[in-house]
Amino acid sequence: MLNIVIFGAPGSGKGTQSEKIIAEYGVEHISTGDVLRGEIKANTELGKTAAAYINEGKLVPDSLIIDMLAATLDAKGKDIKGVIFDGFPRTIAQAEALNEMLAKRGQKVSTVIGLEVDDAELIKRIIARGATSGRADDNEETAKKRLNTYYSQTLPLKDFYVKEGKYAKINGVGSIDSIFAEIKKAIDAVK
Ligand code: AMP
Repeated sequence: MLNIVIFGAPGSGKGTQSEKIIAEYGVEHISTGDVLRGEIKANTELGKTAAAYINEGKLVPDSLIIDMLAATLDAKGKDIKGVIFDGFPRTIAQAEALNEMLAKRGQKVSTVIGLEVDDAELIKRIIARGATSGRADDNEETAKKRLNTYYSQTLPLKDFYVKEGKYAKINGVGSIDSIFAEIKKAIDAVK
């Protein structure tokens, strides 16, 4: 079972590269951002709570995200090749919860693909994406808040996974295909 975490700042290319990884390895996609946007669209209680955080560029509280992730993972069933976790974990607590969840299923995180992109490029990409994504949080003001959130709450996870020997550093600037070629090497090394 291939359990891949794709890790990086907003705008680092997690969604784009996830699609390529799914096409190549046949793993299931779990994007907590997509699940939350689905909840908002369906106007559920979780969606209403989440929207307030998302629109401020803040993280949705760990307890809500961890329960949501567990339910999403269970819904995938057992007959799968693996999962790509996109946008999760975003805090140390979430990473610890993921390790526990996988351990209960006799599995573990196979590798963490860390897409590294400089800030100026990230802001440029998020604003460009905003023109077509329809996402309320893809604007310059919220993008800056999301980046601050990333540096204070999510980046510490890099060290967490480096210590576990799982962090594969990938230069996230370049053509989509050349970046994917690097990702493929990292995944094939743990397959
Ligand atoms: P994304 O689509 O991954 O950029 O996520 C959009 C927004 O959803 C984030 O800015 C957060 O507000 C929220 N979100 C997504 N995933 C998580 C997570 N794992 N933990 C907390 N908040 C999350």
